[in-house]
Amino acid sequence: MLSAVNEPGETVMAWEATREDGPFFCPECDEEVILKKGSIVLPHFAHYPEASCSYGTGESEQHRRAKYEIYEALRVHPSVSHLEVERYLTEVRPDVSFLWQRRLRVAIEMQISAISPAEIAHRTRCYAAKNIWVLWTTPYHNNISGLTPYNTRVWERYLHALYFGTVYYWLGGIQLLPVHFESYIQDSTLEQYYDKDEKKEKLRLKHIYSPVLRNLDLGKKVAITDLQPVKRKAVHLGKLDLPDAQLWSIQGSQGKHPKDVLPTPKRKTEGGH
Ligand SMILES: [Zn+2]
Repeated sequence: MLSAVNEPGETVMAWEATREDGPFFCPECDEEVILKKGSIVLPHFAHYPEASCSYGTGESEQHRRAKYEIYEALRVHPSVSHLEVERYLTEVRPDVSFLWQRRLRVAIEMQISAISPAEIAHRTRCYAAKNIWVLWTTPYHNNISGLTPYNTRVWERYLHALYFGTVYYWLGGIQLLPVHFESYIQDSTLEQYYDKDEKKEKLRLKHIYSPVLRNLDLGKKVAITDLQPVKRKAVHLGKLDLPDAQLWSIQGSQGKHPKDVLPTPKRKTEGGH
């Protein structure tokens, strides 16, 4: 955890605190926590080993650094106020959240470990119910080159469908790379069929699409602060169950790639979108 509560009840950032500012308390269970400052890891708060609360445990250094970097990049933006990390919102606790132009509440969910589509749907629904616009993002990594097919994870395909055919990969600071998935032809076979018009057997090419591999269409970099509020209604797309959502997203992205958000593309004659 990057933030804790001090004795007067104020929220304190680990990287701004010193031991002398303590004691500090866990925002989840109110137990005292320890400020960890080393030369290698980002300063953070941690429970004492005997604590029963699991809040903040098992969090990776990568996750803490991502939150810290986004927070530090957003704090200097003139349209951003009420900026916070790990804000307590009952059922959800966004990694970073803020008020945009003094009127829109925005939450950032930085996804690093695997998560189930059901959990993404649950939290997305919570944010929509609270009138908060949510950006789900995940760190960019080297496999996202666009040069080779990309082995997508199940929750990436879910986010892709949720955001109308885009996954936002976090590049650092407030920079994001929007990526669109296109179906990948794993194999093609010749298939015989009966042509009713010509009344004869003919051959046609049948494509077999990979359920997980995708060709990547890398978009232009955008800043988190370039995104806009976009609403979507709950919908079933193939096997996917997408919730009512208030998305922090590229505006006009809905309907941009309407046919490509389907998880298992059917036969198509030619590529392109
Ligand atoms: Zn705790």
